[in-house]
Amino acid sequence: MVNGESVWVRKKVILLGDLAVGKTSLARRYVYNIFDDKYISTIGVNVSKRIENVRYGDKGYSVTMMIWDVFGEKGYQSTHRRFVEGADAGILVFDVTRPETFQSLWEYWVPLLYEVTGMGMVMIGNKIDLGMKIDEDEIAEYSKRYGVPYFLTSAKTGTGVEYAFHEAALLAISIGKVSVDRKGEGVYPSTRGILDHIMGEFIMGMEDVNEASLIFKELLEKYNLKLGDSPTMTEMEDIVNDLYDIEKAMVGEEEAERKKTRRIAILNIYRRLKEGV
Ligand code: GDP
Ligand code: MG
Repeated sequence: MVNGESVWVRKKVILLGDLAVGKTSLARRYVYNIFDDKYISTIGVNVSKRIENVRYGDKGYSVTMMIWDVFGEKGYQSTHRRFVEGADAGILVFDVTRPETFQSLWEYWVPLLYEVTGMGMVMIGNKIDLGMKIDEDEIAEYSKRYGVPYFLTSAKTGTGVEYAFHEAALLAISIGKVSVDRKGEGVYPSTRGILDHIMGEFIMGMEDVNEASLIFKELLEKYNLKLGDSPTMTEMEDIVNDLYDIEKAMVGEEEAERKKTRRIAILNIYRRLKEGV
């Protein structure tokens, strides 16, 4: 439980995506709860902040979200890279009425973020008040493949905006913890560190901590593993899938899906660090 006491942290969250997808509007909706139809092209970067309270594992966190709203013109790679540096989470925005803005996430923005390793990402399909011109199945497929949770929002009506930023805060905390563990491990994180982390998160998310520990131990036995071992990547992936099945029955499909996506994000970051892909 949170015990009324929470840890204060500050996280840099960066909004990226093509021109006019709604980055500035989302930031204003989130920070000031306002929307205005005028389009004012962002010059350079705008930074605003809001405090987001999240619960992760057995702790409560008050996260000061420093929202970096960067002007979104493709082709300013070096400028973008400079802004992205030091970010704890990235929010990738596309416009659901313009499929080409979704494509450019994968062609331009994600590869750019991948160069800055160790960061969690959330994807936002904005302007749903205007209707969808992209198949949601396609969005879901990319989300699964890359371990990037997605949210459909309208900065105009406010739908979905809180959820998306909340998840970004959670990612900044959880992936941040993995990279702190990494410091103790040397240059690279280990699958053992990730396994410990995932186990902690799994157990704390369950009602009955003792039962959850037993379930986790049994799961490890299935792979002939015990605590302190370093599983292979394939084993890690299988464990993540098994946990999803277990959690689906216990905390519901939506929450289980969210956790799985976040774990895949951690595995992807590890893989990139290790293999440089
Ligand atoms: P940015 O270039 O990504 O920062 O985009 P802006 O936030 O400036 O938004 C571009 C245009 O889209 C503006 O005219 C906004 O009013 C409009 N817009 C942004 N979000 C929404 C939305 O959710 N629904 C609708 N209908 N219009 C939006
Ligand atoms: Mg803008």
